[in-house]
Amino acid sequence: MSAATLASDQSVSTPLPVLGRDVRVPLVTGGEVTYAALDYAASAPALQRVWDDVAAYAPYYGSVHRGAGYLSQLSTDLFENSRAEVARFLGCREGDQVVFTRSTTDSLNLLASVLPADCRVFVFETEHHAALLPWREAQVTCLDAPRSPREAVQTLERALADREPYGPALVCVTGASNVTGELWPVKELAAAAHAHGARIVLDAAQLAPHHPVDITASDVDWVAFSGHKLYAPFGAGVLAGRADWLQEAEPYLAGGGASRKVLRRADGGVEVEWHATAARHEAGSPNVIGAYAIAAACKALREADFGRLVERERELIARVRAGLADVPQVRVLSLFGEDAPRVGVISFVVDGWNSSHFAAALSAEYGIGVRDGLFCAHPLVRTLLGADGGEAGECGAPEEGQSLNAIRVSFGAGTPDE
Ligand code: PLP
Repeated sequence: MSAATLASDQSVSTPLPVLGRDVRVPLVTGGEVTYAALDYAASAPALQRVWDDVAAYAPYYGSVHRGAGYLSQLSTDLFENSRAEVARFLGCREGDQVVFTRSTTDSLNLLASVLPADCRVFVFETEHHAALLPWREAQVTCLDAPRSPREAVQTLERALADREPYGPALVCVTGASNVTGELWPVKELAAAAHAHGARIVLDAAQLAPHHPVDITASDVDWVAFSGHKLYAPFGAGVLAGRADWLQEAEPYLAGGGASRKVLRRADGGVEVEWHATAARHEAGSPNVIGAYAIAAACKALREADFGRLVERERELIARVRAGLADVPQVRVLSLFGEDAPRVGVISFVVDGWNSSHFAAALSAEYGIGVRDGLFCAHPLVRTLLGADGGEAGECGAPEEGQSLNAIRVSFGAGTPDE
């Protein structure tokens, strides 16, 4: 299979300029080709505009919140303006806070660290490990993989209604699966959570690069996402949303920047008053370049007519799926079925092939970069492959000689038509 097989002569509107589109890679058969980046779901290439914005700022780089000098003040302004841009991109409510973190994983771990002590957490087994694992084992209820968006809502409603004792609860749910690309019914899940006195955090790591995320319209309490999947690969992430639990808890990291006032007590101890702002959870010198890059990506997507990008991606998805459907040995993994709305993330297995060997061959022979494995979502991939003695998924149990993993192609705003 080649990149050309995945495309047709049908033309769609223009991709956003990204870095790396002209990278040449060697082939095992000799010669070289232009790299075909089809692993956006792992890390997307930087938007050219993000790169340019970061390069323009780089000479002015300075410490944030820590200096009287001009460059320090400039960097502080850029950092705080970046927060405001992210809040705009996410449609934040009055009073919501935007905390800069290292990644989605970091954001969800931060949230886990501020939960009320008796808080129960509800997650579907289909989640990425970043959403499945940060919670204390004793507080988690792991829900069965639903087979439709409607079943997801019903399953959640039942679990929340049955919880005992009926105390604080958090639902953690993905916006778009990193395995199937399928969209989850976020608004309906949020309504179900709130109807049962629970809160909800949206893992938007895969949703945000492909689809507008609106915290107000979807009525989720928090959103987490990563810069490197949103075309801003500079090691930053975001947790945005309600301030109360964030501000009532101890800081995620203790140290300078998080503290407003520190006193040596007469008894020899140390007393501290923590900030009541996002800074409370951003101790240490922040990653200003990462934050600035995320904001630049948010701005670029906001201004690029996201609706047009979504439409273009829909056409790409249809073409890739049609190309895969032409190969009888290919079975696409799906939880919600053929017609479910999805983003540009498609996983499949090829009968008779070990997925890792197949992915390696795509790279070595065609210069196509995809991902193989269980995509940090082991329970979901196992369910879809019908492994673990569970019921066979849509694609049935793995056959003789077939590996217990899959191949994933993923693309986005920078993917060329051919
Ligand atoms: N959530 C989902 C749905 C993901 O796909 C990923 C990464 O692949 C993560 C969370 C974790 O993101 P990061 O590795 O940037 O923390």
